[in-house]
Amino acid sequence: MTEQLISVSSAQDGAWKTAVTQIIRAGERMDQRGWVPATAGNISVRLADGRIAVTRSGGHKGFLTPEGVIEIDLTGNPLLPGDRPSAETLLHCQIYAHFPHTGAVLHGHSIAATVLSMRTKERALYLADYEVLKVFEGQSTHATRVAVPIFSNDQDIARLARSVSLFLDEMKAGYIIQGHGVYVWGPDMDTALARLEGLEFLLACELERLKLSPSFQGM
Ligand SMILES: [Zn+2]
Repeated sequence: MTEQLISVSSAQDGAWKTAVTQIIRAGERMDQRGWVPATAGNISVRLADGRIAVTRSGGHKGFLTPEGVIEIDLTGNPLLPGDRPSAETLLHCQIYAHFPHTGAVLHGHSIAATVLSMRTKERALYLADYEVLKVFEGQSTHATRVAVPIFSNDQDIARLARSVSLFLDEMKAGYIIQGHGVYVWGPDMDTALARLEGLEFLLACELERLKLSPSFQGM
């Protein structure tokens, strides 16, 4: 009996260490790409037993240590007293609660997402005819158009979550908070990172095309 308990606890400990390693590596990758300036962004992983590992509030995501990752439940409450998750943790929990098979959520503040979402008056950015669209869930061809919803930024995260909740089922490539950044998720960290990289690549393409357009250059 005791041996069984020790074995379960050591398996859980191993799963936790794996999740923390994935989060640290994702933070380094996002930092290399310039998507987590200053203390921006947050990263989480859901373990098989339902626990969620998420980055602690504050701190640079490119220089994370195991102490920078804390354990929360599905409602966003820290499991250890004194731990403080990021305010935006509620947006991670909302995605995990809505999509039972989601295993990782990524949030970054890229230049392209920030600039493009502040420039448009539309409630979404539309990405069409790009080969990279195939990285998103359910997409098998470039000959398509994917809408990425844009929500107004709001320091009241509960209110922002309510706005997002109305559209969650329609999001194939995540969503954008205006003047702020993107939320992307996947069944595991590798898939979530690939989708984030795909979305950021496409947003960067849109920004470059805008800069090349005659109206941008005042012609
Ligand atoms: Zn943010």
